[in-house]
Amino acid sequence: MTNKYKYFIANWKMFGNIKSTKSINKVIKLKKFKKFNKAKIIYCPPYTLLEGFVKKLKKSKIDVGAQNCHHHNLNGPFTGSISSSMVKDIGCKYVILGHSENRSGGETNKIINKKIHVSLSNKLNVIFCIGENINDKKKNDTKRILTNQILQGLKNIKNIKNIIFAYEPVWSIGTGIIPVNSELIKNILFVKKLLKIKFNSKNTKILYGGSVNPKNISELSKINEIDGFLIGGASQNVNKFIDIIKKTYN
Ligand code: PEP
Repeated sequence: MTNKYKYFIANWKMFGNIKSTKSINKVIKLKKFKKFNKAKIIYCPPYTLLEGFVKKLKKSKIDVGAQNCHHHNLNGPFTGSISSSMVKDIGCKYVILGHSENRSGGETNKIINKKIHVSLSNKLNVIFCIGENINDKKKNDTKRILTNQILQGLKNIKNIKNIIFAYEPVWSIGTGIIPVNSELIKNILFVKKLLKIKFNSKNTKILYGGSVNPKNISELSKINEIDGFLIGGASQNVNKFIDIIKKTYN
């Protein structure tokens, strides 16, 4: 239970079709209740649904983001890719970058850094994903990995006010396993401290992502240091997504 502003970012991944767009009507309705004033909801559907979501959510207080973009700033011969200016042009306010599902496909910190630069220059807010994998965790290497991801990903970026961080341990994404509260708090505080030292940041938002669901949300929402949640699997089921928001404010 909380009375703080919290983010609820729905990452639909490669799921969803035109028909499933209807499900968001329930979330639009929920957001109208005063009780959920402080719930900052952002939908990140696949590219094919972005325009529909932007239109549908125009009069609501719910925003839309893309799940990725290309690192090249201008239009160009990049078959199958979408630029950050296209994401902006279609009406999105956010873009998710550095997601582990893209990192595991070869996206390096250097490429992510370019993507962050072009997205910020196109006036998008960046949802920057960071997190250790299971081997890093076993080797007690989490802090070093997080430091590298942050410092390399944010190279030559002076101002991080338009960046939201999503701490997502890779071993937790889609597995149903979440870190114990003490581990989560330790890593979130580590990131906050690093950002304060390196970027003089105040009030930087750090979300947690990894198997958030209606069963574990009550426990997770007790953690004051977490500014919200990046939700994959559970966000694709509108009832589960609503349950997560309700339980956070109940
Ligand atoms: C994610 O896609 O960022 C994510 C956290 O997925 P899930 O909630 O399914 O673990």
